[in-house]
Amino acid sequence: MVKVGVFSAQGAVTEHIYMLRKTFEEMDIQGKAILVKSREEAREIDGIIIPGGESTTISRLLERTGVGEAIKRRAEDGDIVVMGVCAGCIILAKSIEDGGEKVKSLALMDMKVRRNAFGRQRESFEVDLEVKGLSKPYHAVFIRAPIIEEVFGKCEPIAYFRNKIVAARQDKLLALCFHPELTEDTRIHRLFLSLHYGSQENA
Ligand code: GLN
Repeated sequence: MVKVGVFSAQGAVTEHIYMLRKTFEEMDIQGKAILVKSREEAREIDGIIIPGGESTTISRLLERTGVGEAIKRRAEDGDIVVMGVCAGCIILAKSIEDGGEKVKSLALMDMKVRRNAFGRQRESFEVDLEVKGLSKPYHAVFIRAPIIEEVFGKCEPIAYFRNKIVAARQDKLLALCFHPELTEDTRIHRLFLSLHYGSQENA
């Protein structure tokens, strides 16, 4: 039985729970998707999604609940898989541009992220992207999204939009600038779960 949490802060939390359950079913996995609000709950899971929302607020809640510390320690030990979505991507980054001082990041991934990188003109948009590990393009929804300006160390880009990195992977960690919970396509959640199983199989 695999137990995957969604940090219950703000943003599209229930959509992730729905997508995880759908993915378990499709992959024929015995899995449980739960909301994570406390340090104790964070100790019991095999993986966690840090959802989109406002990175300043989410980082504050991660700190206040102790969930952030638990995730950091367990991820550094290679003990859990973590997927950071949009604001969650910002929170995983070692370096943050534009308002970074207001966000207390978990500093787990070797990348530099810029908040609200698409400006007011393109606050939200949808586009089909090539994602490494997926055989067909993925329809990605961007909402006041960051970009990954730079990766270093062990972090590897897995998707680009107009020459900018919009998804990256480092060991058991996945960072996305778009929202994979807002379509019915479970391939990104599959990719995330495959990090737990250590399979490189195409989703
Ligand atoms: N703009 C938000 C931030 O900087 C992220 C937006 C999102 O998660 N969709 O925190």
